[in-house]
This record gives sequence, C-alpha cells and structure tokens, in this order.
Amino acid sequence: MDAASQSKTLIRGGWVLTSAPAGSGVAAAIRDGAVVIAGDRIVAVGDYQALRAQHPGAAERGGQFDIVAPGFVNAHGHFSEGLITGIASQYTLWEWLHNLITPVNPTMDREKAYHGTLLQAVQLLRSGVTTANDMFCSDPDPSGPITPGVVAALDEIGLRGVLSFGSGDADRDFEMSPIIDEWDALRESAAASRYSTFRVGIAALGRTTPASFAQAVEYAAGGGHGVHIHLHEVREEVTATMQSTGRTAIAHCAHEGLFDAPTLAAHCVWVDRSDREILAAHGVGVAHNPVANAILASGVAPVAELRALGVDVGIGVDGAASNDAQDFLQAMKTAPLLARIRDLQATAMSAREAFELATIGGARALRMQDSIGSLEPGKKADVVVFDGESPTLAVVHDPYQALVFVAGPREVKDVWVDGKQSVADFDVTRVDPREVSARARPIAARLVAEAGLERLSAFTGAPLAATEQP
Ligand SMILES: [Zn+2]
Repeated sequence: MDAASQSKTLIRGGWVLTSAPAGSGVAAAIRDGAVVIAGDRIVAVGDYQALRAQHPGAAERGGQFDIVAPGFVNAHGHFSEGLITGIASQYTLWEWLHNLITPVNPTMDREKAYHGTLLQAVQLLRSGVTTANDMFCSDPDPSGPITPGVVAALDEIGLRGVLSFGSGDADRDFEMSPIIDEWDALRESAAASRYSTFRVGIAALGRTTPASFAQAVEYAAGGGHGVHIHLHEVREEVTATMQSTGRTAIAHCAHEGLFDAPTLAAHCVWVDRSDREILAAHGVGVAHNPVANAILASGVAPVAELRALGVDVGIGVDGAASNDAQDFLQAMKTAPLLARIRDLQATAMSAREAFELATIGGARALRMQDSIGSLEPGKKADVVVFDGESPTLAVVHDPYQALVFVAGPREVKDVWVDGKQSVADFDVTRVDPREVSARARPIAARLVAEAGLERLSAFTGAPLAATEQP
C-alpha cells in the first residue's frame, strides 16, 4: 500500500520546529504549522490551514498551542544499566567501572536485558526520544545470547534502536569468540525487527586485547557495519593508551583502520587538536553526554571546536548508572549549561543549537540523516508533540528556549515512532509502566545480591558501609 492510500494523520502545532537544513525547501520553524504522516512516513510539512485543506480526511492530533518537533535521537546509552540506576555516583569513571560495572558484567542475562531495557525505554519515550543508539556492555552469558532481549523489549514498546554489544576480553577469563557469537545473535535479531539495526560495539580500547581489536575491525569492515565505541572520556584512558600503543586512543583507532567503518564515538572530552582533526578527517560522529560527564566529573567535551571542524555531534543521556536519569530533555538542557560554564559565555551554545544537536545532529552522527532527525517529506514519521495547554508552555516567546530550557517530560503528549504512536496522551501505549516497574523490582534485587552490590546500596535495606558514605 502506498503512502497516499493509507490513512493519514495531521499533527498541528502553534510551532513546528523541523530541524530541516537551509535549502531543503522546509522552513526550520513554522508558525501555526502541521506535519502530515501516512504509514511510516512524513508526507507533508507546512502551513496548518493549507495542509488541512489539502488533506481533508486526515485525523487531527496536536493543537494550536502545541509545539511539534522531530523525535529526539539519543546518541549514546546503555540498556545494560537499566537495573542499576541511582547507585555509586560518588566515583570517577575508572573507580565506577571497578566498583559497579565490573561486578555486574558477569551477572547479565537475557531476562535482565529485557526488563532493564523496558524500564529505560519508557523514560526515553516519555522525554521524546524516538531513536536510541545503545551499547549493551557486559560479559557474554554462557547460557545464551543476551541482547535479543533488548531487541524484543524495543519491538514491544515501539522505540527505534541502533544496537551494539560492547564487551572486552582484556583481563577476563573468556576470549573473543563468545563476543562474536553475541554480535551474530544481535545482528540476526535486529535484522528481523521493525525498529532495530545493528552496530559493532567496542566498550573501550583498553578493555580489548590487540588481537581481539583487530577482529572487531575486520568484523565491521567485512559486514559493512557501523561501530559504536567510547573514546577519550577521561584523561586516564588517553594516558594508558599512550603508554600501551604510543598513540592516543583516537589516533590508534585511525591507524588500525577502525574509522574506515562509520563510527560513533561517545564522549571525546579529552581530545587535543590532533585528535579533533582525526575525527573530522574520518567522518567520526561524536555523542556528547553532558549529564553523565558531570556526574562522573569527566570534564566538558569541546563541542564548539569539534563542530567548527565539521564533526557531527549528537547528545546522549548515557547509561542509567552514570546519568542516572534517562530524561533526554535534561541532557539537552545540560549541554548548553556546561558549554556556558566552560567558556563563561552565555553565547557558548544557544537553545536552537542544542535542539539541532538533539535531532538532526544525532542523526548525522549516526549517518541516518536521510531517514530521521528532521521533519521533512519522505523521512520516517518520528514526531513528538509538546503540550501547549500545560502551564509550563503557556507562554512561548521563543519555541527553542521553551523546549530546551523550560519543557519537561510532563509536556510530552504524543510520540510517533516509525508512524506508530508509542506515546499517546502523556504515556506509553503498549506496556503498562507500573507493570514494567513491578516486574523489574525483584530482578534488580537479585542482581544486587548476585553482584555483591549491597555495600554500595541501601536498595536491599542494608546500610551503606561507613567507608562508602559520601
Ligand atoms: Zn557510555
């Protein structure tokens, strides 16, 4: 069935912010505008009255005071952390990895992946995310592949996923083959899914032996797959890689051919001029994670310097154990706040720039700008409506500032992903969020016991150990 003969929905907004680039034929901001969708596609974007006349049979959503936006692209996250949120944020990254993530890694399995993903996906959808670029980080599970649980959860709830599995065999008692088995399982599972696609995950250069890193490069190149990797999040990583390879991690990845595959690098906080030029020369996209970088005291990524070189930058919430919220609107607001504190200039990043990073910027960083990231005819129908009846958005003098600095998840009224409504009238449509919480609780408690996290947590009722108290 072609788009013209499918039932259409006209989504009205007092403002329609399209993120369409100059020269696309679609204005960036349309006063009293509308978006018409049919099937999984956007078929028209423009003036409300004109589109209402052209599509008289279309059902109408949104309203004259609402703000309509492209679905946000969460450029970096970890569905592997859905059950360990709000714990151990008193550490910097390497301490946090040692104390929290390392003991959790061997306990992960498909059931935990499924329930943790549902918990996070509810929060992402409620903050307007329609695409989640994710790296599931854990050890492989000898009893069977884990990440098909992520694919199943996203298919159930209706959220687009760009999914990778990032593990590492350095200092571990397993080798590369179970990691490759997990990649194969995720790739096949994603190929059969409406919402998900596959990338090769590499947790970090220092967590992978040189031989396994070479296998990962070959897997990506041989299959034509994209790559998702953490790079230069903290100074310790750069120093360690300089000592082990004689190069920065970014220079080493380029030297070894990793960047010949489309690569999304998370963080890129500790990048010098040469690192930035390598990222630009190889078309590496960057995910900026302002909240997680602040919680772990990692630093502030030089977003303006990267963009000045032509690097595509998106915004990520990062994991539920390092943000710890999965509220994308918080991350979108924190990006300009950190940029302004870093430069001590209120002009360092505008609300409009943050909005564009959150939409088309993330799509470009993932090389998905032909299908998502803006409201343009022919693109996927990934659309968010913010409630203009809310007191929070009753007065809109500048729609970009209203969304980036004022709006919260409570204003997210409707969300379409791939043309299907995943949020309607302020909540997810396909799962009962209270049931999701109820099912996750005992599994999280079991994980805490299996990984021995009681000393970090008051979750089980045990008091925090004296030495761990902040
Ligand atoms: Zn991360």
